[in-house]
Amino acid sequence: MVIQRPKSMSELDYYTRRAIGEGKAEVWVTKQKCSCGGVLKKPKMRATEYICESCEKIVPKEDYESSEIAGIVYTCPKCKHSAEKEEPFKRKKVGIIIKGKRKSVLSFTFECDSCHEKINVTKKLKG
Ligand SMILES: [Zn+2]
Ligand SMILES: [Zn+2]
Repeated sequence: MVIQRPKSMSELDYYTRRAIGEGKAEVWVTKQKCSCGGVLKKPKMRATEYICESCEKIVPKEDYESSEIAGIVYTCPKCKHSAEKEEPFKRKKVGIIIKGKRKSVLSFTFECDSCHEKINVTKKLKG
């Protein structure tokens, strides 16, 4: 599967690129458009809905987020398989060990197509 890479950061809702063990992953989520083709924007940073700039249709944040699709380009840390694919952008909390302490962090998880290793792209941690 060959997926379309983002042309610029301005068309993205999310972007990250990281080293995961001996592998790596690049994940992005392209901004969604209204069914009319218009641009959906949040009126305020913490608003709970998006509004279409063209037709003024209101899309609740949960609906917007639940239909987001992530573009993924990765090299598996376990089997070194490299591939690219698209998957629904769903994040959930996972437990990871940081400096000997178990922490719960928000993570986007996808599976390696080759060895089915679960690869976690966790929310960036401070420090
Ligand atoms: Zn619209
Ligand atoms: Zn693998």
